[in-house]
Amino acid sequence: MRTAVRNFNGPPAHLTVGTCPDCGKACFASRRDAKRAARGMFPGAHHRAVPCGQYWHIQRVWGDPR
Ligand SMILES: [Zn+2]
Repeated sequence: MRTAVRNFNGPPAHLTVGTCPDCGKACFASRRDAKRAARGMFPGAHHRAVPCGQYWHIQRVWGDPR
């Protein structure tokens, strides 16, 4: 059984601390928050937290390293 694909607009707002002025991605205050948000967004998918300035972004890893 699969759950229906939800319309997805972005990471959980309560975990973000705004968007990055440089790259426009959602910012997270810590690596843990970033990974938690990523897990909520894409359960089962691989992702990693990447630092940007004093904040963190999440980056999906689909086996295509770009
Ligand atoms: Zn950034």
